[in-house]
Amino acid sequence: MLQIKLLERTEKPKILCLGAHSDDIEIGCGGTILKLIEIAPKAQFRWVVFSGNNFRKEEALESASAFLNEIESKKIDIHNFRESYFPFIGAEIKDCFEKIKNEYNPDVIFTHCTNDAHQDHILISKLTWNTFRNHLILEYEIPKYDGDLGTPNLFVHLDESVVQRKIGNLCGIFQTQTKKQWFSEEVFRSILRIRGVESNSPTNYAEAFYCRKIVFQ
Ligand SMILES: [Zn+2]
Repeated sequence: MLQIKLLERTEKPKILCLGAHSDDIEIGCGGTILKLIEIAPKAQFRWVVFSGNNFRKEEALESASAFLNEIESKKIDIHNFRESYFPFIGAEIKDCFEKIKNEYNPDVIFTHCTNDAHQDHILISKLTWNTFRNHLILEYEIPKYDGDLGTPNLFVHLDESVVQRKIGNLCGIFQTQTKKQWFSEEVFRSILRIRGVESNSPTNYAEAFYCRKIVFQ
């Protein structure tokens, strides 16, 4: 299969990561972010989490800093929009998106999948598409109780070292989440392994995304 390089080593891409909750970006695309940083250490990052009270905000900040440790140019925003109520406060969140768009013109955007079952995730995905209309948008997946996993169409192969660092950060930092039965090293590794099978990954592991459109020149 023809494999496409998302970035070249010399590039300084502007990357935007969007997540409804404190750990979404890391679960959905943490491995891909670590891989992109290895390929393009001069990449610029804007990292936006839309909800996070007290402890979860601290965890989100600690985690974003850990994932972006090697990156010089970065801006991390942790908002405190009311969790689980995003569809009812959509106008305020849309204002936040407009502000991001006016300040930052990303080359690649990572966001939630529109077919996700969580109401907060869906809103963030929809606002991503209606705010950024000329951009490469990759939608990540979050395993959850609702059983909403689908058939992704874009895969990023991950080395074992990246897998370990992703899962180590998640399980080490997000202590408020560890009692949830789905928040486990086993779950995080399992989905990477399945996506690795589906994409014939030489390293066994992959993260997967939904890409509605991509433009070749
Ligand atoms: Zn979430």
